[in-house]
Amino acid sequence: MTIQTDVVIIGAGPSGLFQVFELGLLDIHAHVVDSLPQVGGQCAELYPDKPIYDIPALPICGAQELVDRLMEQIAPFKPELHLGQTVTRLEQTAAGRFRLETSAGTVFDTATVILAAGLGAFQPRRLRAQGADAWEHRTIHYRIRDPESLSGKRLIILGGGDSALDWTLELHGKAEHITLVHRRSEYRAQPASVSKMKNLADGRTLKEFHGHVRSVFETEGAFGGLEIVDPAGEHHQVAADEVFVFWGLSPNLGPIAEWGLDLDKRQVRVDTEKFQTNIPGLFAVGDINTYPGKKKLILSGFHEAALAAFAVQQHVHPDEKVRLQYTTTSPLMHKRLGVSD
Ligand code: FAD
Repeated sequence: MTIQTDVVIIGAGPSGLFQVFELGLLDIHAHVVDSLPQVGGQCAELYPDKPIYDIPALPICGAQELVDRLMEQIAPFKPELHLGQTVTRLEQTAAGRFRLETSAGTVFDTATVILAAGLGAFQPRRLRAQGADAWEHRTIHYRIRDPESLSGKRLIILGGGDSALDWTLELHGKAEHITLVHRRSEYRAQPASVSKMKNLADGRTLKEFHGHVRSVFETEGAFGGLEIVDPAGEHHQVAADEVFVFWGLSPNLGPIAEWGLDLDKRQVRVDTEKFQTNIPGLFAVGDINTYPGKKKLILSGFHEAALAAFAVQQHVHPDEKVRLQYTTTSPLMHKRLGVSD
């Protein structure tokens, strides 16, 4: 089923979320897509606990707190969030609209698109060891979809963060054995999970290993396991049936680079009146865009979102005159915000 709409926002970082608000004030309902399972972009994914000091009128605000406040602010406009899916295709249609497709198969037919994609879609950091490409998604995975299917198997789990440790503890006792491989002896995961893992690491059902992956080895043409070099430089062959890589996520421009946009390195060029790209009807706000003097700050994304909203309004309703109204005094704004009948 194709979703018909006036606007799709690609990216639920602070710029994408505030974009919902600015559009909502102009009575435009938004769909928002993000490849992460949660909203908040870099703030939620990279530094949720850090304080931010340069949000106007908030002398200090935690990054996750900012995201929570934005969600509260946009709630009256009931945006439809499509999380955990990446926009993989974007095409202009003959009718001057856009057809968007996501990795989850969601299809939109939309009048306008606002790219609020930051540094790109967050994707798992890949295992780049020799021979690994050929086994990716067959034996080497970046997520666990069906834990039950791993019963009785020999597993290698790569990583030292919460995902690696949580899955090690979850699968211990179900898998035949697990080798947890981390580059250093310090872990980023919760201390309680680390000490639980250390207590279970008997070298037989669970082995803790420090080192880096050098290559994949094969046994009679089948996947054999990973060759790992320990801190002393010694090579070890660790046999396994399945490998899981939990090295975190990194942003990647990915499909956006193929949409015919005018790019300056990894940013999309826009004008500073409408924040429109070289494709009419396709706007870009926040860290993804560039123009003379651009500064990659949350504040900049908020300003750009306000102006882009007026441009979207004009694009969708070219015959309607767009009037600036104050949220303090406008009865219409109050109605849209749900603060009066
Ligand atoms: P992002 O926050 O990057 O969000 C973009 C979203 O788009 C992501 O969630 C991504 O998954 C999604 N996306 C991308 N491509 C696709 C696709 N194809 N399909 C679906 N989803 C997609 N700024 C300040 O102003 N003050 C600070 O103090 C400050 N401190 C910082 C500290 C750190 C450690 C870092 C890393 C950044 C800091 N910044 C700060 C910068 C600030 O976080 C960014 O400017 C801001 O997050 C940009 O917001 P955005 O919404 O444009 O993009």
